[in-house]
Amino acid sequence: MVLSKTVSESDVSIHSTFASRYVRTSLPRYKMPENSTPKEAAYQIINDELMLDGNPRLNLASFVTTWMEPECDKLMMAAINKNYVDMDEYPVTTELQNRCVNMIAHLFNAPLGDTEAAVGVGTVGSSEAIMLAGLAFKRKWQNKRKAEGKPYDNPNIVTGANVQVCWEKFARYFEVELKEVKLREGYYVMDPDKAVEMVDENTICVAAILGSTLNGEFEDVKRLNDLLVEKNKQTGWDTPIHVDAASGGFIAPFLYPELEWDFRLPLVKSINVSGHKYGLVYAGIGWIIWRSKEDLPEELIFHINYLGTDQPTFTLNFSKGSSQVIAQYYQLIRLGYEGYQNVMENCRENMIVLREGLERSGKFNIVSKDNGVPLVAFSLKDNRKHNEFRVSDMLRRFGWIVPAYTMPADAQHVTVLRVVIREDFSRTLAERLVLDIDKVLHELDTLPAKLVVESHEVKKGCDGCVVVKKKTALETQREITTAWMKLVMEKKKINGVC
Ligand SMILES: *Cc1c(COP(=O)(O)O)cnc(C)c1O
Repeated sequence: MVLSKTVSESDVSIHSTFASRYVRTSLPRYKMPENSTPKEAAYQIINDELMLDGNPRLNLASFVTTWMEPECDKLMMAAINKNYVDMDEYPVTTELQNRCVNMIAHLFNAPLGDTEAAVGVGTVGSSEAIMLAGLAFKRKWQNKRKAEGKPYDNPNIVTGANVQVCWEKFARYFEVELKEVKLREGYYVMDPDKAVEMVDENTICVAAILGSTLNGEFEDVKRLNDLLVEKNKQTGWDTPIHVDAASGGFIAPFLYPELEWDFRLPLVKSINVSGHKYGLVYAGIGWIIWRSKEDLPEELIFHINYLGTDQPTFTLNFSKGSSQVIAQYYQLIRLGYEGYQNVMENCRENMIVLREGLERSGKFNIVSKDNGVPLVAFSLKDNRKHNEFRVSDMLRRFGWIVPAYTMPADAQHVTVLRVVIREDFSRTLAERLVLDIDKVLHELDTLPAKLVVESHEVKKGCDGCVVVKKKTALETQREITTAWMKLVMEKKKINGVC
């Protein structure tokens, strides 16, 4: 019998990826390959490696949308080759973004006439939106100081220590000092009284968060506004407020329409919101809205004309996709006020199902509030035997991605687990998650004593005192390494929460 030819020489090999040599060679990681790969093989190999990513729908760490209607997917795919910045070439897309800006500004009660154009722009996300808002405040403050003949080289922003990392980025990239109000155990948002105390003549704005990333709680913007009005009156300053409503901007108007947090408060000059969080669009869109033209210094706006007519632009990057803008418009008109309200109410209901399920176990303290972003943040009542990181690790085995992280200063000793309830997290999933958490707790309780002792010591190590009993040198070395890794992890501001 004649042996068949080797696969690589066979003509049929190009028709079956798994019979081809492409699945036998390792792909280069550093240098581009010399030769091309057939498209079927390239697709298969990349697709298969990606299977090892988590399932986005089970990623309970993120606020970012993981489900949209197929009709909207269709619109997005049809626009995938449209560069948003070519406004003259794609005037309809530009028009849709302007309609979104207007609708969102009205939702936030901007003082506008019924047909008056709002001041705002679509961004890649809240991070870009916050850079733009921060720059506008910085420039306005500098202009005022210059006009008064006062120094303008030492600007600061006052926030809570619970701010999202993008504020720290803004501060570092654009050279503004970040003055953080510290937290304390049991109080995980910015205390408005303390924030106003920290305001000085160099404060370009106070940033309040509507929906703290860490526990979903809304900060008291109304009290902040009232205190700051008073302080401005006494000092003659006019320190403004920015509201970072990345997660809460599409929740408060529907669940808590009476809550005053937006442009109804006179000192609120700009608000950002992530379209890709509760705006219900896939990752890649945010919005920044200014109260009025006066709040956005003209000198920050660039006018370009080489794409056709004069186009004002105020964004950090130039080219970007159009799909997310179109998808945001789809969601706004498809759902309407009624639809968004129903979605947010469902999220809230399912959050309560999960919260009650966790409370029934008797093992957790709940550190999130029912009024806020629909999420449950919880910590173990007793984490001496096993800690929250362990619970997070073990839930991964069921497919659930639930992050554990430590709170910022001065509540670093508190570790929480956080589950974000998104539109696509139904009651059935909430009930399953409760069951799986119960299973994990049970398993941890019955783990062999040795393992439990180890995790206990690692935990102690994190608090700064590594307790090492008589162990082999290798065991000791391992423990110290683990403790240091934990310490470094906990020092990091974000551990996979976004
Ligand atoms: C998510 C989030 C951000 C960052 O927003 P992106 O849209 O991811 O850039 C900023 N602030 C808060 C409060 C957030 O929750």
